[in-house]
Amino acid sequence: MDRLVLKFGGTSMGDVERIRRAARYVAREAAQGQAVAVVVSAQAGETDRLIKLASACMAGADRDAADEYDAVIASGEQVSAGLMALALRAMQLKARSWTGGQAGFRASAAHARARIEAVEADAVGEAIDGGEIAVVTGFQGTTQDGRIATLGRGGSDTSAVALASALSAKRCDIYTDVDGVYTTDPRIVPKARRVDRISYEEMLELASLGAKVLQTRSVELAMARKVPVRVLSSFIEPGQPNPGTLVCEEDETMEKQVVSGVAYARDEARVTLVGVPDVPGAAGKVFAALAAAEVNVDMIMQARPRSEVETANISFSVAQSDLERTIEALDSHRKELGFEKVETRKDLAKVSVVGVGMRSHAGVAHAMFSALGERGISIDSITTSEIKISVLIPADATELAVRALHAAYKLDAG
Ligand code: ADP
Ligand code: ASP
Ligand code: MG
Repeated sequence: MDRLVLKFGGTSMGDVERIRRAARYVAREAAQGQAVAVVVSAQAGETDRLIKLASACMAGADRDAADEYDAVIASGEQVSAGLMALALRAMQLKARSWTGGQAGFRASAAHARARIEAVEADAVGEAIDGGEIAVVTGFQGTTQDGRIATLGRGGSDTSAVALASALSAKRCDIYTDVDGVYTTDPRIVPKARRVDRISYEEMLELASLGAKVLQTRSVELAMARKVPVRVLSSFIEPGQPNPGTLVCEEDETMEKQVVSGVAYARDEARVTLVGVPDVPGAAGKVFAALAAAEVNVDMIMQARPRSEVETANISFSVAQSDLERTIEALDSHRKELGFEKVETRKDLAKVSVVGVGMRSHAGVAHAMFSALGERGISIDSITTSEIKISVLIPADATELAVRALHAAYKLDAG
């Protein structure tokens, strides 16, 4: 008997009819003789609602309230798991809901952004091998102290892949509100195409560059543990064609396009430290201060203004939500870092093109800069890796840029 993990996201759990349809997918797999574990997210909008509520009550007490904040925001998944188990029982199936902790998810104590340290899945494994359906809350685990810790927004994807790996499941099926992974967000580009297969590496880049269809860590984990992941729609009636997208090893993918996808992330900010002493170790000190403040730095650039020989300007990008913490960290180390002033720019977005074919093709950057230039979109900064190119651009040009690049690399359907 094969084991299978099915995950249903927030929109897929959005109302009773959708929960019932999701349950029919589960029932179908069980009827075909698979041992099935299900991972569920909170109903759409519920985690946002809980975050607002918790934030309002904790006002000012952020530092020592993180565990209770997590206790609140993890509760949406518990409701979903219970509802799914009820819907399955209503179909005469044996089903039981499990909290993350009950299912063996051990998490680090970094509340709101905890990592899964282990999944002790023997009990779930036994239950599903015995013909029961285990419905597990996504997005959470318990810490060594027995407290609930959540895994960061979108974390149920990671819960599902981690459970699939711990159960040695043959696959992890991620049911969502789109029918697969697209060449870019289909909400922005109606001409985006579903891809049949995508490599772990490309999916990892797309996810980390903003494509929220899978949480980045879920792809990292799937790649490391070689868990085949399929992304497919929960809106299609079971039994109808629903091929989705298989995320798998590069040599199992068929389409070897130079660029296979375009991703975007809004709410980026750039910080420039003007007049940093141009001596060895100066940049090291800057980024050590930021690392200590747990600021996630993305693109980094350094320039030496011609007029001033002994100082340099160091720029880097961060998420806008990290900007305040960044400035505080820099200000508190002002003396030892020795910079003149900090300049910031907030209204930026990052747009990226990704493709394994870039390794062997020249001219990808040229095509990107021409497409943006032709639309009058100015580029603030650029970074590249082996299989991606990212640019920071004015945020109000995001959609225009994504569409232009999608067309330029011939990704448009039809
Ligand atoms: P769930 O609630 O099921 O976890 P999410 O909202 O987290 O679903 O992720 C699905 C959404 O991801 C889609 O509705 C789509 O707008 C967005 N998305 C962004 N980039 C892509 C892409 N390249 N392919 C498919 N969907 C994408
Ligand atoms: N409910 C959580 C969130 O909204 C986790 C998830 O949906 O994956 O971020
Ligand atoms: Mg999601």
